[in-house]
Amino acid sequence: MVRWIVLLDQKTHIYQEIRATDMRYKNRVRSRISNLKDPKNPGLRRNVLAGYIEMTRIASMSAEEMASDELKQLRNVLTQEAIREHQMAKTGGTTTDLLQCSKCRKKNCSYNQVQTRSADEPMTTFVLCNECGNRWKFC
Ligand SMILES: [Zn+2]
Repeated sequence: MVRWIVLLDQKTHIYQEIRATDMRYKNRVRSRISNLKDPKNPGLRRNVLAGYIEMTRIASMSAEEMASDELKQLRNVLTQEAIREHQMAKTGGTTTDLLQCSKCRKKNCSYNQVQTRSADEPMTTFVLCNECGNRWKFC
């Protein structure tokens, strides 16, 4: 804990920045330290120690930016899926009568195949029922 405070003090300008209110400074440093010490976030600590992330950046990073790699990846995937679903809603995708809607049993669907994660993983197919608006996906 002390080691991190010393590091932060030496390498950042947090102190100069919020010199006026001692309490705010302490809270800010404490929130940084708790992120650096978070056992679920070894990536951040590793990157800082290896010098990949400048200590000065830590000072201005948001809680979101400091979130663990795992959470970040999950968040990225979710965001990408949301974007793709949105794009499909706009472009309409490819119409097919080969897929049946589980809700209305009609065979009037549009689908889009997208690579949601890495290139070596299977495509995800997003389906939209043109009859009732039901949406689902499968891999
Ligand atoms: Zn339907």
